[in-house]
Amino acid sequence: MLRAGVVAVQGDVSEHADAIERAARLHGEDVEIVEIRQSGLVPDCDLLLLPGGESTTISRLLHSEGIAAEIRAHVDAGKPVLATCAGLIVASTDAKDARVDPLGILDVTVDRNAFGRQKDSFEAPLDVDGLAEPFPAVFIRAPLIDDAGDVAVLARWDGDPVAVRDGPVVGTSFHPELTDDVRIHRLAFFASSEAPAEAE
Ligand code: GLN
Repeated sequence: MLRAGVVAVQGDVSEHADAIERAARLHGEDVEIVEIRQSGLVPDCDLLLLPGGESTTISRLLHSEGIAAEIRAHVDAGKPVLATCAGLIVASTDAKDARVDPLGILDVTVDRNAFGRQKDSFEAPLDVDGLAEPFPAVFIRAPLIDDAGDVAVLARWDGDPVAVRDGPVVGTSFHPELTDDVRIHRLAFFASSEAPAEAE
């Protein structure tokens, strides 16, 4: 039984819970969902999801509830995290916004709402390293990754990185949890999105 922690102080929690349950099933694993709203729960989790939402709120609550340090310890122990959109902002090393005190678990600098200034939200087929077919990427007031530090870039949109991996941490500017497609969750937590390639 895998214990999947979904950071649930704010953001699209149930969508990530559904996605990780479906992804795990494809790999023959049962999942227990743990909604993280206070400290003391992260240390028992095998994997963590940092949802999209509003990064200044998520950041403030992670620190005030004492969850931030536990997430850093989770990553230091080599355990995996998927951080999407606001989650990516919170996971970064620099969010260029004094209201976000980033966790520094993903070595990128981000620009909040940079895509939003151009176009509020859009969906685009995205080529992602490790996926055989394009991924339907949903961008909603998405952050731009403007300094991709020492990370592997898994996907770019218009030349800019929008999916990155830094050791056990995968971050996306877009929202894989808002589609029926769980290949990004599979990639982040089960090393492969394709095997065992059963029908979903
Ligand atoms: N723009 C939001 C922020 O800066 C993130 C948007 C999202 O998660 N869809 O927090």
